[in-house]
Amino acid sequence: MEILKIAVQKSGRLKEGSMELLKECGLRFINGNNQLKSQSTNFPVEIMFLRDDDIPEYVQDGVADIGIIGENVWIEKNKKTELVKKLGFAKCRLSIAVPRDSKIIDNNDLNSKRIATSYPVILSKYLKENNISADIHEISGSVEIAPGIGLADAILDIVSTGSTLLSNGLTEIIEIMRSEAVMIRTSTLTTAKSEILDQLLFRLAAVQNAQSNKYILLNAPNDSVEKISSILPGMDSPTVLPLKKEGWSSVHSVVNESDFWNKINQLKEAGATGILVVPIEKMIL
Ligand code: ATP
Ligand code: ZN
Repeated sequence: MEILKIAVQKSGRLKEGSMELLKECGLRFINGNNQLKSQSTNFPVEIMFLRDDDIPEYVQDGVADIGIIGENVWIEKNKKTELVKKLGFAKCRLSIAVPRDSKIIDNNDLNSKRIATSYPVILSKYLKENNISADIHEISGSVEIAPGIGLADAILDIVSTGSTLLSNGLTEIIEIMRSEAVMIRTSTLTTAKSEILDQLLFRLAAVQNAQSNKYILLNAPNDSVEKISSILPGMDSPTVLPLKKEGWSSVHSVVNESDFWNKINQLKEAGATGILVVPIEKMIL
């Protein structure tokens, strides 16, 4: 029996989200601390816990079949691997930031300046594309302190809320890329492993669809049902059930999370009452 080997960050910002996603796909693992590996008890996969920066290389070499890492690291490492899917968590951006009182405000001002970063590949590509000639200072951690200690005039680093920049007296001037967690794969997989990956992706799609949709139930007078059905396109046609109360129906459907507030106002205007919106556990399309 073949087993699909999945590389996951051993500790850090990606670990929890990665394990959570696999658990939502129904995969169970025996809990244990400080493990290097963990085999699922109910699905043919094994998790290998590695430093995130090493994951692209392990996946390229086939030591792991698939990996979950930040898109930023995947691009920076530039290994021969394939993108399987964006996963929608660990969202951040890579931005150039400068001290608040700096005269640097845009690309042109970066010429002949020193920029500190842990992402030299992404930075040099950006500089080249924009015809900027600047000095790249590669440092592996705490990039945000580089300007303060006189090591650099600017930095390229990960930003999410901007609070780290703020507390280091820096301000964001240019967003270079957006990133989120991604699943990557090695270029050749055996047939058996491809099948396991397909099963996993099927489950993942069900989890992701469920997360972006809500199940909605409401009551409406029968003569409003047509109007309400047109507001609720749902997966298919809505379910309409008679209520015990004469002349009334219960309407059930699925709405996308992103426009559900908008729909709710329209539904109320159309005569809907007792609106319930409930989370969906899994959704198979
Ligand atoms: P190390 O390799 O030394 O453990 P790291 O910076 O690579 O450090 P993390 O800080 O755990 O490791 O970040 C892992 C990934 O999570 C980053 O590459 C990025 O994709 C994403 N990430 C980092 N910071 C944030 C943040 N503040 N919000 C959301 N995602 C983030
Ligand atoms: Zn890392």
